Amino acid sequence: MVLSSLPSLETASPAHICPFDQACSYLEAAAKELHLNQGVIEILSHPRKAITVSIPVKLDNGEVQVLVGHRVQHSDILGPYKGGTRYHPSVTLREVSALAMLMTWKCALLGIPYGGGKGGIAIDPTHYSVGELERITRRYTSELIKDIGPEVDIPAPDVGTSAREMAWMMDTYSMNVGHAVPGVVTGKPLSIGGSRGREMATGRGVMIIVREALATQGKSVKGAQVVIQGFGNVGGAAALLLQEAGAKILAVSDAHGGIFSPAGLDIPALKAYYAQNRRSLAGFPGSLPVTNAQLLALPCDVLIPAALENQITEENCDRVQAEMVVEAANGPVTLAADLALEARGVTILPDILANAGGVVVSYLEWVQGLSYLFWDEERVNREMEQLMVNAYQKVVQQSKQRQITLRLAAYTIGVGRVAQALTDRGLYP
Ligand code: GLU
Repeated sequence: MVLSSLPSLETASPAHICPFDQACSYLEAAAKELHLNQGVIEILSHPRKAITVSIPVKLDNGEVQVLVGHRVQHSDILGPYKGGTRYHPSVTLREVSALAMLMTWKCALLGIPYGGGKGGIAIDPTHYSVGELERITRRYTSELIKDIGPEVDIPAPDVGTSAREMAWMMDTYSMNVGHAVPGVVTGKPLSIGGSRGREMATGRGVMIIVREALATQGKSVKGAQVVIQGFGNVGGAAALLLQEAGAKILAVSDAHGGIFSPAGLDIPALKAYYAQNRRSLAGFPGSLPVTNAQLLALPCDVLIPAALENQITEENCDRVQAEMVVEAANGPVTLAADLALEARGVTILPDILANAGGVVVSYLEWVQGLSYLFWDEERVNREMEQLMVNAYQKVVQQSKQRQITLRLAAYTIGVGRVAQALTDRGLYP
């Protein structure tokens, strides 16, 4: 289906940057580098299926509200569609389409047998009660019942969702088909077949990539000064694991702002404070307040945007002082900023590599489920680390061989594998 022909249900994204156009630009750059034929580029520029559903929900006060949800299935050339489900007010069909495309390249780059998909509902989950969120999640899942499944499309958590939502999705799917189907989602609670290590997986993958990238430059993670935008599932875990690996975490933030300490923040203490202080970083003893704009401009060795898209843009990229940017979020650096930072010699570790730890452990969860054999956390972490380090080395090698940026190298590997499979499978009919 041609995306432009879909109903326009969206509002403009921040700074009017279309995330889907950006995703297509990276695809085109990779396709040019690989000399792919135009037909292949055309096919890969369009999601195979884009589904938009209405989600009527009865609120606790008795009123009925109708929400909009999407699931975009970009490609299943290498295996079932795979990707998270996002609950955030900025969710639009175009954003979900861009994120679905990124998932295709991410899975291909990591060598895991999945295609790419993504879903989302345009809500601020903090404005809903647990009961309302459960009804929203169950109705959304019901609307998608024919389009998801362990061999078809496997949702997972993303911004605004967690193991709790995955359990509701798994239960709704299972009740509809008449038997338990744990493999329909990943990122589930352990009690229904989740994997050890899944919750920290994306942050762990980020830590591994930071450590490897610093090592490539002859530097150590020990003593490296790190700034992290975001203190959720990804940013919080990355902060903890990087500190454990010896890095100094100078600053972290959430949607409301951040805190900074030149001596380094004590992350376990900060996590406890954040939980007790109703998820607010403000006032953490020994820290100074910073805005998100100030945080991005702090001098440091490694800057890790771990929140949302389009955070480092043409407008603010001149102020970035970090020598390395590691994209823990999907699409946090705009295309224009990417070019400007690369021109200044800033090393950028692209999202499809840096944040792949989550989907890698989703894959390991799926494998454990299919084999009815569950591993200890040490084994999960070891297998994930192997896949991450392997992909990192391939990206570095490709970048050196072709004299291209790490992002283009990552894209050429991911896009190249999908294009090869598409060529081998041929075009139906
Ligand atoms: N939402 C995560 C991502 O963007 C994880 C997806 C998954 O596990 O399927 O990579």
